[in-house]
Amino acid sequence: MLKIEHIGIAVKNIEQSNDLFAKLFGKPPYKMEKVESESVSTSFFMLGENKIELLEATHSESSIAKFIEKKGEGIHHIAFDVKDIVAEMKRLKEEGFILLSEEPKQGADNKLICFLHPKGTNGVLIELCQEII
Ligand code: ZN
Repeated sequence: MLKIEHIGIAVKNIEQSNDLFAKLFGKPPYKMEKVESESVSTSFFMLGENKIELLEATHSESSIAKFIEKKGEGIHHIAFDVKDIVAEMKRLKEEGFILLSEEPKQGADNKLICFLHPKGTNGVLIELCQEII
């Protein structure tokens, strides 16, 4: 893994949270994007090299809706930049981590992504992401 790519925060209302975080950071999100496959609306803020992703569920079966139901709003995942997601998924699987998908998926912000089950990572949901060039 290369570096933290972004931190994902689950929110109930992304419009309100965009305003809140824009006030906090002193700048608006640089991107908003729906990811149909994950049933989420996302927005991204850039702070130097660091990104914050806000995620709102687009329907009640979304993993974000379930997360908020259980734990409330807050930090949802930490995403790490990887050079070769397929190789990294294979390596982590061999190390005994549980992958939430067998193949990389199309994520927000022009990325291939895969999540690791938090059961195997001390309760932290980890996302791998590889930039699509
Ligand atoms: Zn993410």
